[in-house]
Amino acid sequence: MTRTTVYPARRILTMNPAQPEATHVAVRDGRILAVGDAARMAAWGPFTLDERFADCVLMPGFVEGHCHLKEGGMWDRPYLGWFDRQDPDGRVWPGTRTLDAVVQRLSALDAEMSSAGQPADAPLIVWGFDPIYFSGERMNALHLDAVGRPPGNPPGQARRPIVIAHANGHLLTVNSVMLRAAGITAETEVEGVMKFEAGPLAGQPNGELQEPAAMYLVLRQIGPAGLLAPMNDVGMHNFGRIACLHGVTTATDLVNRLGEAELAVLEKHCNQADYPVRIVPAFQAFHGSQGAAQGAELVRSLTGRSTDRLRLGLVKMMLDGSIQGFSGRLRWPGYFKHPNAGGAGAASDNQNATHKGIWVTAPAQFEADFETYHRAGLQVHTHTNGDEASEVAINAIERVLARAPRPDHRHTLQHGQMIDTALFRRMAALGLCANLFSNHLWYWGDQHHDITIGPDRAHRLNACRSALDAGVALAIHSDAPVTPLAPLFTAWCAVNRLTPSGRVLGAAEALTVPEALRAITLGAAWTLKLDAEIGSIECGKRADFAVLRDDPLALPPAQLKDVRVWGTVLSGRVFEAGPSASASASAPAVAL
Ligand SMILES: [Zn+2]
Repeated sequence: MTRTTVYPARRILTMNPAQPEATHVAVRDGRILAVGDAARMAAWGPFTLDERFADCVLMPGFVEGHCHLKEGGMWDRPYLGWFDRQDPDGRVWPGTRTLDAVVQRLSALDAEMSSAGQPADAPLIVWGFDPIYFSGERMNALHLDAVGRPPGNPPGQARRPIVIAHANGHLLTVNSVMLRAAGITAETEVEGVMKFEAGPLAGQPNGELQEPAAMYLVLRQIGPAGLLAPMNDVGMHNFGRIACLHGVTTATDLVNRLGEAELAVLEKHCNQADYPVRIVPAFQAFHGSQGAAQGAELVRSLTGRSTDRLRLGLVKMMLDGSIQGFSGRLRWPGYFKHPNAGGAGAASDNQNATHKGIWVTAPAQFEADFETYHRAGLQVHTHTNGDEASEVAINAIERVLARAPRPDHRHTLQHGQMIDTALFRRMAALGLCANLFSNHLWYWGDQHHDITIGPDRAHRLNACRSALDAGVALAIHSDAPVTPLAPLFTAWCAVNRLTPSGRVLGAAEALTVPEALRAITLGAAWTLKLDAEIGSIECGKRADFAVLRDDPLALPPAQLKDVRVWGTVLSGRVFEAGPSASASASAPAVAL
């Protein structure tokens, strides 16, 4: 006999405009049977009453439309970011806030590796760093060459290659040992291999490698690291824990090779009933070994392997780099203060064409490949950070749609950080969705204001209000592990638009709390074409809930990020995030 479970709650925020609030929800076969009051539950016949959420607020399970499973898989490497960061076990790694502290931390890790018996030339790889937070000189190989060197000793004795993966996933900084091992010299003519522009070392590589072509010179020596490293069992488990801790029931993995090895890892975990999150991987349709026609054929052939917890079929393309890494493609007037223009604080260098950013995919190639995936009936998500990249994507997609019209394609621009009102109007006309990177307002908002793009454009960064006003379907995201996975924090960013220095960036672009909550549920579900199944609490949809201990609509908007999460429900299965939950359960939750 089919069992029905009824959950009463303090408040249920449904995201269904026909019935925005309720006190009870009935679940049968992993789906939502009824939403309303106690009487409406009883009309469906006998049920089991489960009161464990009686003091909680239920929302639709949060949908992270742009993150990477590596959020759970980075923790086998030391974290070296500016901000404190919590790992999947709840341990907080303190931020590293001076270049001296960076060198000290690396020296300690170098010594740990040596005393653990690791060979002297085994690479030390850390992640989460960003030189833009450090005032003064931008970190380069010479700073790293001091690692492991007692004060006063000459350089040149270190043997250990050091590789620092930047938080944005687009850049590496390496020491001189690594440069030599990778064969990178003054003669290396690869775009993104940065060189000293002045001084005695002018023309020599400075240790910074921007974007895949340059990073590949190192990665081919040390193996894939950072976002491109393959997932393992521990990483998948950790990702599930982090998702549950933050109320996420559906999450993308927005760059995945989807080879048999990657699929085996995904299927192994997603096929287990106690895996707490639905994964939507997107095929890496750039820098692959195969052409677009082959890629489209692969993705189409994989859709038949989709299950409830593993959804295949998305395609990810990539146009430019990262704004804080100065590799995003910007329209006139380009970057505000470029680090290679003579050091921090130097005058604007926007006249120099070499400082306009990097095309990860050449625009003509993008248009051709996009058309192939589009004609194959697939949905394409395109990374565009700078406004030139967004405009180039919109121009290309406009031409493709003119040649091959297709209703309800829901192609989505990912990040779209500098999109302005005029571009949003064009996106609306083309049926393009936007998934904006609201977390940037906090994590890099001050740097965008003061260094990368300047105040004018920083105030319209991640312009959520303009997107909605133009009629563009909107989601907001973390791009974890670039910034931590936590949709309520992302919503807080979109509502408050606050930076660490206390600045409010473009108050006119703020969302209301209900709009932000919609963006992390139904809005994100829409961009994944999953809105018929998830994103709101209504009859027939999956029983996916974010179980909250505080009411996000009752707290002041400034406290939205502090809403406590009890856990989640995924297709009717209950997952408890922490030990603080009530013990009134009639059936045990899966402990994570
Ligand atoms: Zn990403």
